[in-house]
Amino acid sequence: MSPLTPEIKFSNRRRTIGLTVERDRQLVVYAPTGTSDDTIQAILHQKRHWIQEKLAHPQKYPAASPAQRLLPGSSIYFLGRTHLLLSDSEPTAPLHFDGHTFTLGAALLPKASALVQIWLRQQAQAVITPRVERFARSLGVTYQRIQLLDLKYRWGSCTANAALLFNWRLIQAPSTVINYIIVHELAHLLVPDHSTTFWNVVAVQLPLYEHAKKWLRDYGAILEELD
Ligand SMILES: [Zn+2]
Repeated sequence: MSPLTPEIKFSNRRRTIGLTVERDRQLVVYAPTGTSDDTIQAILHQKRHWIQEKLAHPQKYPAASPAQRLLPGSSIYFLGRTHLLLSDSEPTAPLHFDGHTFTLGAALLPKASALVQIWLRQQAQAVITPRVERFARSLGVTYQRIQLLDLKYRWGSCTANAALLFNWRLIQAPSTVINYIIVHELAHLLVPDHSTTFWNVVAVQLPLYEHAKKWLRDYGAILEELD
């Protein structure tokens, strides 16, 4: 294991030591004021496997590239494909998608990013919710609720009280990647860690899940461009 240079934050309201790994993979230690360095080092040693696992988590993705401003001729990612954005001075609808191309009313071009984002969020709701229900049935798990959010640096997350949070930008990824994130979070309702048992549960649902993991590693960052 490479040497760790954690950021240490002391607080006199804390009674125990807590660890988090931030999206940029910075390890942060929260400790009660006055905790000795030896104690912190001992915790870091004790938790080294957990830390390694967190650092390798498939759903952490690289920091976003600068936001892309949408113009006629820009590409929009939807379900893993790129689609051209065109403008029309006499549009039939503010934003229209014919399955290949997006057409936006020319007068609305300054609002292109916002309109495309609203459209993608609606699609995310329509696609992700029924799939979560289907995979939950298949896994035999129950969850509290599904929420689509602007999760800045995660694709999905499963809270301690079984609420499933998904990044709406997931709708820009291929269908198989969406399924993988859904199954990954639902599988955490059965197995909280990333042990072999966990990956076996995922593999039963999605035998080819490794392809989705690789896709996220290779292309995950591009989904952040739309802002
Ligand atoms: Zn996980």
